[in-house]
Amino acid sequence: MAEICSAKGCKISVPAGLAPEHMCILHFTLFIENECAEMRRETALGKNKHERQVEFMQKVALRGETLVNTATSGFPMSDELKARILSTLLTLMNTRENMDRAAMRQSTARRFVG
Ligand SMILES: [Zn+2]
Repeated sequence: MAEICSAKGCKISVPAGLAPEHMCILHFTLFIENECAEMRRETALGKNKHERQVEFMQKVALRGETLVNTATSGFPMSDELKARILSTLLTLMNTRENMDRAAMRQSTARRFVG
């Protein structure tokens, strides 16, 4: 029997691709959106070490991979849910772009400092 989403009050079953996350597709996209907002906030402060930024980039890539694999696995989805997945992928792409820009700014700043 399929597992039920771990989000409070949600009774939607978890697709095979998201079994390690224990979340339905909708809640997984919400989780990613939150995580991205958090990563962007931290990146914007500009105080992250290189390792931390690398960790973020790996996380973005991993979330994107999981989402795409689940979305293309043949699991039945409403058009609304499909649109939600696309918008979450866009968030992931923008978060990644954001990090690249921040990294560029930081290396420029370092060059001036010394
Ligand atoms: Zn759910």
